[in-house]
Amino acid sequence: MKIARIDTIPLAIPHEHDGPPPAWGGRAWEALNILVVRVETDEGLIGWGEAFSYNCMPSVQAMIDSTVAPVLIGRDATQVTSLMREMQQSLHLFGRYGITIFAISAIDIALWDLAAKRVGVPLGQLLGGPASPPLVPGYASLLKYRDPELVAGKVRAALDEGYPAIKLHETGEPEVAAAREAMGEGVPLCVDTNCPWTPVQAQVMANRLKPHDLYWLEEPIFPPEDFSALARLQRESGVDLACGENACTAVEFWRIIDAEAVRYVQPSVTKVGGVTEFFKVVALAESRGLTVMPHSPYFGPGWLATLQLLAAMPLTGTPGGGWIERFYTRLEATLYPHCVSPVEGGQFRIPIGPGLGAEPDPDVMRDYRVRA
Ligand SMILES: [Mg+2]
Repeated sequence: MKIARIDTIPLAIPHEHDGPPPAWGGRAWEALNILVVRVETDEGLIGWGEAFSYNCMPSVQAMIDSTVAPVLIGRDATQVTSLMREMQQSLHLFGRYGITIFAISAIDIALWDLAAKRVGVPLGQLLGGPASPPLVPGYASLLKYRDPELVAGKVRAALDEGYPAIKLHETGEPEVAAAREAMGEGVPLCVDTNCPWTPVQAQVMANRLKPHDLYWLEEPIFPPEDFSALARLQRESGVDLACGENACTAVEFWRIIDAEAVRYVQPSVTKVGGVTEFFKVVALAESRGLTVMPHSPYFGPGWLATLQLLAAMPLTGTPGGGWIERFYTRLEATLYPHCVSPVEGGQFRIPIGPGLGAEPDPDVMRDYRVRA
């Protein structure tokens, strides 16, 4: 089964979170950018992947189109792990992390989709999960509001929808306090800060936020790879930390885990190196008794790949183990209408079709495609 063709399909889907426009990379983020990758084999089988993109979508697309795809045409699509090893090795001089590995991640996801389709099972089952996986617990990942009243309102709305846990993207103590007051005691509250502080500032803020009973404090320190500073912060503050969305390949997770930096590791399938590297991280984390909480604030094939990986993770569904992150925003359209909304109690159904479990809606791909 040879790779015959690779296409990139950039999508921009408007969404509404009822707050100020989010911004990433210094620019407003007006739509959810999804870079879909379509891999076609000489047998006519189609595999779907997704590269992390947000505001760097044109760069990732160019990396795939100009550098990654040409090397893979004609290669054996069934040799996923060796092909991905080869891609990492041959592209390492262009940067191990960032755009390069986002591009590799998308191809890897598509090849795993093909591998599972080839034998007619969902990917989670191919990776060792059950044929009929249970529902996966999710948490509502609120976007940034910087307004305690807005935060409290959104927290109440998410809880009313049945979500069992909430994550904020806030750095202010008033917003965190408002969330805790709105949700009461006992409901898990996570706070994602996206690397704002020095180690000393993070210590001050962790102590300030601690009375609000955080389930985890996520990425409190810049630079994100200062794992020894994270370890010191977790040890001295007594607040559980989480990180990993900015770590690429299992190699960086060795370092996180060896440094005892965090309680929760958060590989992102569209960034870490796809299913291949994600699954290595699961094994590493399990061997050290750490919990994997995937980073998954996206809605393309990467979302489905995350669900399939959760189906195969040994601790999914146990208390505090393996929740999926769902951006708490309303999309104008979705590629997978039956897979991106919780079915009950903030839990998500893992689709059981072959491969990633479901196929993207061609009308959505046509209507929301970004035209050059
Ligand atoms: Mg995060």
